[in-house]
Amino acid sequence: MTKTDDLLKGLEETVSNYIKTIGEFIIKNEKFHIVDHYRSSEFEHCQICPQETAIKDIYVIEDSKGNRTIVGNVCITSITNEKIGQRFKDYQRKFDVYTDNRTYIDFLNGLLTDYYGIDPDNEEPEEGDISNLPIWISKQGISKLLGSYKRLCRGISLIDTQLRLIQYYAKKIQKEISEAQQ
Ligand SMILES: [Zn+2]
Repeated sequence: MTKTDDLLKGLEETVSNYIKTIGEFIIKNEKFHIVDHYRSSEFEHCQICPQETAIKDIYVIEDSKGNRTIVGNVCITSITNEKIGQRFKDYQRKFDVYTDNRTYIDFLNGLLTDYYGIDPDNEEPEEGDISNLPIWISKQGISKLLGSYKRLCRGISLIDTQLRLIQYYAKKIQKEISEAQQ
């Protein structure tokens, strides 16, 4: 399992725990609970109100007999009395950051775990060992890479200069490895 898979699994658990905390709610004398949330690629209609005719953020709710209904952000928020849309927006943003940056997260995880001997996302690293890296990287470079890695693990996208620095080192390492193989 890669670091990105690990982060996605953790996120999934967080979402499912959050859904559990919402519990049951009543619509027209019928008990419902949330069973799923997803981003649809096409527009759908909310099935309990006439206003939400073009929704992509879909919440699937289920009654006690197992009948499923899809509802939009506005309805689910007013029914559950929770700022549910915002929470799911945060989860969605994290999901997008993890999946869009899979290459960078896994690259940095490998590099920094080699350097520190531990995954610096899980534990606060102390001194690292440069001789475990395929190329020389300055302390300042390492600390910038560490900052970018922690940022990605928190689900925040990188700024251009951070991305360029990762690409720079990745290219250098690739070159080093291919030269060593010749
Ligand atoms: Zn609705």
